[in-house]
Amino acid sequence: MIIMEKDSKIYIAGHAGLVGSAILKALKKHGYTNSITRTHAELDLKDAHATDAFFESERPEYVILAAARAGGIRESITYPTEFLLENLVIQNNVIWAAHKNKVKKFLFIASSCMYPRDCPQPMKEEYLMTGPLEPTNEGYAIAKIAGVKLCEYISTQFGDSFISCIPCNIYGEGDYFDTLRGHVIGSLMVRMHEAKTTNAKTVSVWGTGNARREFLFDEDLAEAIIHLLERYDKKEFLNVGSGVDISIKELAELMKKIVGYEGDLVFDTSKPDGMPQKLLDVTKIESHGWKHKVALEEGLKRSYAAYRAKPTTLA
Ligand code: GDP
Repeated sequence: MIIMEKDSKIYIAGHAGLVGSAILKALKKHGYTNSITRTHAELDLKDAHATDAFFESERPEYVILAAARAGGIRESITYPTEFLLENLVIQNNVIWAAHKNKVKKFLFIASSCMYPRDCPQPMKEEYLMTGPLEPTNEGYAIAKIAGVKLCEYISTQFGDSFISCIPCNIYGEGDYFDTLRGHVIGSLMVRMHEAKTTNAKTVSVWGTGNARREFLFDEDLAEAIIHLLERYDKKEFLNVGSGVDISIKELAELMKKIVGYEGDLVFDTSKPDGMPQKLLDVTKIESHGWKHKVALEEGLKRSYAAYRAKPTTLA
């Protein structure tokens, strides 16, 4: 097992995003003193030459790839080309540069949307690639499958410690609070807050409300990632989730309570539900000693407070 030292040089690719910013915070909390970051303006990870040059000059020992072209269901339907292409380019550049520059340990963050659309629930790691994907996020899912496989191949072929995890839907204080482009929590929270502020009688929720999702607070994912970097080096990827799911209708009701919105929910069935259910089997990671801590209600309260303190939108 490779031991990560408190002064090991750790590069967080995508440190400004929801997941990356939570990782950066958690590393500091755990006493890691040598995290390195680059803004998009400083380093374009879509540029292979620039990425290589960065790795050659900085020589990070550990790398966490949290940079991705991401967004909610509307974004992944509208931009499948970009979701596939940009993610493939970013991850290929970063993974290969990390290998060439002898990074001690690399962690790839995938997504639960890479399991088959009609996957048995909860989804076990071995169900990957056993059926067709959900069309609304196929481009993103294919890129993530390619990333997990590339890390696995590199580990097998070259003996590198390139590991992957598959998180469920992530939300949190650093979420993309944008009604159209965000994921369900980030977009519905803004819409509900605006409805409360304007005394609107109804608020629109996309889809039937029957789709089920599993949510994990960004801080919990960051803790899982540090746990894996410190203690896990098998090439078999692990699911990371809360192990509990909720329907979108139940989620919207809970959000109403937290936001303090008293109007009615109207389900817009002209909008897609996406995958009927996404619930991960988290037996494996829990047997490795990690478990989520932040309950959905608490996480939503903290996210709402963060949104009210500093509304943000997708760049
Ligand atoms: P998904 O997990 O990839 O489908 O991503 P999302 O987080 O974007 O959507 C999750 C579910 O929430 C889907 O069933 C959406 O139809 C539903 N949903 C309801 N209202 C909204 C909304 O305002 N924004 C988004 N993004 N999804 C919504």
